[in-house]
Amino acid sequence: MKVLFAASECTPFIKTGGLADVIGTLPGALHARGVEVAVVLPKYRDIPRKWKQAMQHKLSFYVNLGWRKQYCGIETLNYGGVTYYFIDNEGYFGGEGVYGSGEYEGERFAFFCRAVLESLVHTGFIPDILHCNDWQTGMIPVLLGTQYRNLPGYESVKTVFTVHNLAYQGVFAWSGMRDLLGLAEECFHPDSLEFYGRVSFMKGGLKFADLVTTVSPTYAEEITQSEFGENLHGFIRYQVREVAGILNGIDMQAYDPQTDDKIKAHFSTYDLSGKAVCKRALQEEMDLRVQEDVPIICMVTRLTEQKGLDLVECVFEDIFYRDVQLALLGSGDQKYVDLFNWGAFRYPGRCGVYIGMNETLSHRVFAGADMLLMPSKFEPCGLTQMIAMRYGTLPVVRETGGLADTVLPYNEYEDTGYGFSFTNYNAHDMLFTIDRALGFYGDKGTWQRLMQRAMALDFSWDSSAREYESAYKKVLAQI
Ligand code: ADP
Repeated sequence: MKVLFAASECTPFIKTGGLADVIGTLPGALHARGVEVAVVLPKYRDIPRKWKQAMQHKLSFYVNLGWRKQYCGIETLNYGGVTYYFIDNEGYFGGEGVYGSGEYEGERFAFFCRAVLESLVHTGFIPDILHCNDWQTGMIPVLLGTQYRNLPGYESVKTVFTVHNLAYQGVFAWSGMRDLLGLAEECFHPDSLEFYGRVSFMKGGLKFADLVTTVSPTYAEEITQSEFGENLHGFIRYQVREVAGILNGIDMQAYDPQTDDKIKAHFSTYDLSGKAVCKRALQEEMDLRVQEDVPIICMVTRLTEQKGLDLVECVFEDIFYRDVQLALLGSGDQKYVDLFNWGAFRYPGRCGVYIGMNETLSHRVFAGADMLLMPSKFEPCGLTQMIAMRYGTLPVVRETGGLADTVLPYNEYEDTGYGFSFTNYNAHDMLFTIDRALGFYGDKGTWQRLMQRAMALDFSWDSSAREYESAYKKVLAQI
């Protein structure tokens, strides 16, 4: 079986969030199962030089986009058994950052979608399954279904569309997109791509893909309801035959406290002593007072509404009435940057803040902290809680999406579970749950048992890769 992943980010080349982790690890897991896998990505300016130097120019061609012809270079490299193709166009991907804003974003990814489809016949990698991810690739199934289906090479290509986050939909003016992509008038209909007078890439993927999946079973259910459906719940319910929820995995090798070279000391379920060394190192690195017995609550997160930061803001000072330290690693909305920077000023030695993306520091935070706070409003899957548990950092989460599927709350009567969770999106429910966790933190024996339980969990891609493979087989069996 041949599978081509199309996505807008992928570790180790370029990352803004969990999508990059998934595209950076799932293909390798499928390769290990004997699937022939390739990945196609935009060649952004921000890809580190070392990777750009490793790329080889394979070929180039021109892509029709409206009345223009745009250059499209294909650069390639092999890494971990997977072939990566990079779509090169300086005009679209030569600027700073990964994502921009406004209508131009639509043109960039309209180009990407068409370039991906055109590239198949040029590279000769004609997949059985073209696996598209999030809105940036949503027009691929549309174009394949409406314009390429009968062309040589494209007849038997099937598409899978995975929703990593329904909140980002790629909605643009119809007139521009119709002209750029030559879309037929019938696409501009509420049962198709039309979305409140504009055109939605996300709807394109949902409507035209042969199979739609999302990244956790709970989120698959949630997006059919108004609370989580981002105004697409009705469409999903009536226009999408099935949404399969397949939980993401994490890179168990990269996040392994026994071998991680980014952390100060190694530790395992058998010997937790290294964790105290990591904690001290984190306190020193993040300007926190070095205190062994004061619990560190950490957050490693994009600073956006989705992550429940308004709950944290609501009880920010109450959190510091407790004997705790807070370590925040994040980037995003200025409002929350200001909140945490103010916290660092107001509570010196107790509130450590690093604003920005920092992969190395993220490992140190996971290794050195005691708890991870993740009170998301919605969470399609969430990798952060799985990574934290791998390092014995126990999660305090809201029961939504993948958080509900991966964090089993501690039940002291049956002695089961390894995390702490609350249901309602309510700041005081969160605070109560933090208090509950702090209560058990005080009981060293119990806390260590929970840490060991969390660290022993299997968040590898094995079972999910198997599920994807059988989903692909199901799609290929469809007529
Ligand atoms: P999302 O994809 O919604 O951002 P996930 O929990 O699925 O959330 O994945 C987030 C990923 O990004 C995790 O690997 C997390 O460690 C990482 N991450 C988030 N913020 C930062 C940051 N500021 N620096 C380094 N890594 C970060």
